Amino acid sequence: MSARRKTPRIGFVSLGCPKAAADAELILTRLRAEGYEFSPSYRGADLVIVNTCGFIDAAIEESLAAIGEALDENGKVIVTGCLGARPETIRERHPHVLAIAGPHALEEVMSLVHAHAPKPHDPFEDLVPPQGLRLTPSHYAYLKIAEGCNHRCSFCIIPSLRGPLASRPLAEVVKEAETLVKAGVKELILIAQDTAAYGMDLKHRTGFLHGRPVKTRLYELCKELGSLGVWIRLHYVYPYSHVDDLLPLMAEGKLLPYLDVPFQHASPRILRAMKRPGDVERVLERIAGWRKAVPNLTIRSTFITGFPGETESDFEELLDFLDEARLDRVGAFAYSAVAGAAANELPGMLPEAVREERKARLLRHQEEISLARLSALIGQTMTVLVDECDEEGAIARTMGDAPDVDGVVYVQDGQDLRPGEFVEVEITDCDVHDLYARCR
Ligand code: SF4
Repeated sequence: MSARRKTPRIGFVSLGCPKAAADAELILTRLRAEGYEFSPSYRGADLVIVNTCGFIDAAIEESLAAIGEALDENGKVIVTGCLGARPETIRERHPHVLAIAGPHALEEVMSLVHAHAPKPHDPFEDLVPPQGLRLTPSHYAYLKIAEGCNHRCSFCIIPSLRGPLASRPLAEVVKEAETLVKAGVKELILIAQDTAAYGMDLKHRTGFLHGRPVKTRLYELCKELGSLGVWIRLHYVYPYSHVDDLLPLMAEGKLLPYLDVPFQHASPRILRAMKRPGDVERVLERIAGWRKAVPNLTIRSTFITGFPGETESDFEELLDFLDEARLDRVGAFAYSAVAGAAANELPGMLPEAVREERKARLLRHQEEISLARLSALIGQTMTVLVDECDEEGAIARTMGDAPDVDGVVYVQDGQDLRPGEFVEVEITDCDVHDLYARCR
């Protein structure tokens, strides 16, 4: 009897944003399709893949620490992800990693794995569900529609890490969405560095979907996905004027009434230094127009506090903007210098204490607005999607809550609900982030 070769086991550590998670899912899916097994511990793995993030210094540090831990515990480490685009930073701290691949480098990662943990002889492709392996719960999934970015925001190095915009063909995205929906996914979250730019690199060329000609453009993509009968949510929308075209799809119920537009600041001077669109009056008019077209629209945004050169009066302009815009959900980051970003050359770097204090002040300021907006929902009946449940009730989300970044709805009598179920609830109370409800 011939000795059977042991199936290689791979350890996997994934850090970073939903875009990094989508890359990780592709790698995990391919590994499983080729017959590799996964190891939950470092010690039981033949090698470990670390999928890193390189967005801000804290994320770089976290990635380097994760690589160090995998090296200490296992010794055989392949690095991929955003930080992989800066191999010198990794090698300087960890000269003994086996190999380094960049972000969005499925084929390269697979050939590195083959080189260091040879492919099992007899892959069982049918072990892989058609929708691939996902890192998210089975009822929602991130759907990456493009890679890279053509903007040059001065605080960001993503374009140099991930390259220029490269949109996926519309038919490929819709096919992936159809497979996910068949597998039980109830919410698809569209992601890219800039979802609104989808198709611009392809000059919105006409492709074919189920034999029909369809333009490669965000409006058409959302319209097609909107016919699948699940929630479709858009993340990371750059405020181009054509974003307005999506509002009718929201009003018709094809697209969730949710816009995540990272405005980043509101002082025209700082926006210019950030190399972002700077007409704040126009932004306020557009927000008013969006709300008129879709009254139940939820607007989420993120802001950077303490950008180089930000004066107290620039910061107060930002607080005034929040008062006028009355956004529903707001995230904030204290400015953090990222190696290689153009903003590092700007004069007027502020002390960390000022950057952090302004962030805390911005979040406190927004709390009142958030509380007022959430309080207005008390007494309303809303459809929610259940994420979790236990003996204390269920945790769900309204159309206005994206997973992980927004609030949740605590359904206090939701013990018998199931994750992935849509239910009608009556909102009974709120705090500054979350809602409380009971089943109807
Ligand atoms: S839009 Fe700006 S912040 Fe976003 S990925 Fe592109 S360059 Fe970076």
